[in-house]
Amino acid sequence: MTVAIVLFTSDLRLHDNPVLRAGLDAADEIVPLFVRDSGVADAGFATPNRTAFLADCLTALDEGLRERGGRLVVRSGEVAEEVAKAVAETGAGEVHLASGVSGYAARREERLRRALEPEGCRLRVHEAVLTAVEPGAVTPSGGDHFAVFTPYFRRWSAERLRSPLGAPRKIRVPGGVGSEELPRRDAVKEVAPGVPAGGEPAGRELFLTWRRDGMDDYEDRHDDLAGDATSRLSPYLHFGAVSAAELVHRARERGGAGAEAFVRQVCWRDFHHQVLAARHTAATEDYRDRHDRWRSEEEAADDIRAWQEGTTGYPVVDAAMRQLLHEGWMHNRGRLLAASFLTKTLYVDWRVGARHFLRHLVDGDVANNQLNWQWVAGTGTDTRPNRVLNPLAQAQRYDPEGGYVRRWVPELAEVRGRAVHEPWRLPAEERSALEYPEPVIDLADGLARFKHARGRD
Ligand code: FAD
Repeated sequence: MTVAIVLFTSDLRLHDNPVLRAGLDAADEIVPLFVRDSGVADAGFATPNRTAFLADCLTALDEGLRERGGRLVVRSGEVAEEVAKAVAETGAGEVHLASGVSGYAARREERLRRALEPEGCRLRVHEAVLTAVEPGAVTPSGGDHFAVFTPYFRRWSAERLRSPLGAPRKIRVPGGVGSEELPRRDAVKEVAPGVPAGGEPAGRELFLTWRRDGMDDYEDRHDDLAGDATSRLSPYLHFGAVSAAELVHRARERGGAGAEAFVRQVCWRDFHHQVLAARHTAATEDYRDRHDRWRSEEEAADDIRAWQEGTTGYPVVDAAMRQLLHEGWMHNRGRLLAASFLTKTLYVDWRVGARHFLRHLVDGDVANNQLNWQWVAGTGTDTRPNRVLNPLAQAQRYDPEGGYVRRWVPELAEVRGRAVHEPWRLPAEERSALEYPEPVIDLADGLARFKHARGRD
C-alpha cells in the first residue's frame, strides 16, 4: 500500500481541491492532516474569532471525510516536525500541499522540504488552490507582478480556469494514525457574538443562496452599507472552505452584470495575493514609500482608542468599527472609510489599523488586509494615493437613510433624518441628551495635516 499525506492549510474543503485530488491519485491511502501550527499562534494570528471559525471548518472537513470512509488527523506543533513524524509513522512517499503567498508560507515550504528530503519523501506543491489564478501565472512584460489592477484584471480574465473538481467519493486512511481531538468552537473564549458558522457546507450553501437571491443586484447594491448586499463569503474564502476558482466559474455560469462585478472583486483578492507573493515585505513595509512621518502611537493614543472602540464622534466610522467588534466582519465600504479616517484624517500609521483589523476579522488575511490597508493609506497600489474619503460625504452617499448608523450606534437610533450623520447639528438640548461623543477631530484640520505631511499644501 502506498501512502501520501495531504497537508491541509487554507484549503479546508473537499470540492475543487487539487491538493486532495492529487494525493488521492498518487497513493492507495492518504493521511488528511491538519497541523495546528505553533508558528501561526506565535505570530498572533490564532485570534478567538478565527480560531472559532477554524474549529467549525475542521469539524465539517472531518465529517465530510468520514462520510467517504476517511477522517481528519489533527496534530499540534511545528508543521515540518509534525509532518515528518506522520511520514515516519506511515511510510508516506509524498506530501501534498497548496502553494502559499506569504513569507511565512515560503519559509514553511522550505522547512518542509528540508525535513522531508532526507527521508526520501517528496513534497508536491499545487498551484491555484488558494486563489483562482496562481500568483505569477500572469505577469506584465519586464516585471514579476502587476502593480495596477486594471491591466491585471484584463489578463486574469483571459486565463483559463480548471473546471471545478468534484468532491472525492471514497477516501482510505491507513489504520493506527493517531489524532488529537478536534478543536471545538464552544471551547474558544471571547468570540464576537456575530461570528458566523464556518465549514464547507455552510460556505457552499451561503454561495448558492446568494447566487440565487443576491448576485443579480450586486453591482448596484454592493456599496449600500445598510443593504448589506455583499456575499459575506470572505471568511470561507480565507480558510478555503470554498474555492475561489469554483466561485468564479459558477458566477460566470450565471452571467450578468452582478456576476461580472462579483468576479471582479474575487480578482481583487487574487491581485493582492500576487503582489504579496512577489513582495513578502509588503506585509509590514510600505509598498511605496511616501515618506510619511506618522503620528506616534503614544501621541495619538486617545484617537486610536476612540477609533478602535467606535467613539470617534463620526457616526458612520463608529458604526463600521462597532460592526467589526460585534461580527468580526465589516462591510467593504466601512473598511474603506474607517481605514481612510485612521490613516489620513487622524494620520496614524496603517500598520496600527491593520493590526486591529487582523485581531478581529474572521476573514483577516495578510494579503488582503495589509495590501488593502496600504491601498487606502496611499502607500500601496492605489493610483490616487492622496485621496481622502470624507466620512460625511461617504455616509450621505452610502448610508443615505442612516440605517447602518442606527443599527450599529444605538445612541443614535432615535435621531431622525440626516442629523444621524451629523449629530452636532442637532439643537443643543437634543444633542446633549444623546450619550454620543463629540468628534475627535475637525475634518478640515485632519485634511490640512495630511496634505502638509504629503507635501501637497
Ligand atoms: P463581496 O463583495 O461579496 O466580494 C466577494 C469576495 O471578493 C470577497 O469575499 C473577497 O474575497 C473578495 N474581495 C472583495 N473586495 C475585495 C478587496 N477590496 N480586496 C480583496 N478582495 C476582495 N478582505 C479579506 O478577505 N480579508 C481581509 O483581511 C481584508 N481586509 C481589508 C482591509 C481593508 C482596510 C479594506 C479596505 C478591505 C479589506 N478586505 C479584506 C477586502 C474586502 O473588504 C472584503 O473582502 C469584503 O468586504 C468581504 O465581504 P464579502 O465577502 O461580502 O465581499
